[in-house]
Amino acid sequence: MNPQDNKIICPDCEVEITKPQGMEVGDILECQECGTEVEIQSIEPLVYGELIEEK
Ligand SMILES: [Zn+2]
Repeated sequence: MNPQDNKIICPDCEVEITKPQGMEVGDILECQECGTEVEIQSIEPLVYGELIEEK
């Protein structure tokens, strides 16, 4: 993965998810396209993963 490419890409549908202002570790972002939730695990470097909800 290119470290310069500091974008959040939906792991499900590969649409770019807009980073909110003041994003913090632990923030949950929702894909506008498919509703997949992505959890921010690290800001620098940017690390994120799909949030698996257990129901
Ligand atoms: Zn998506």
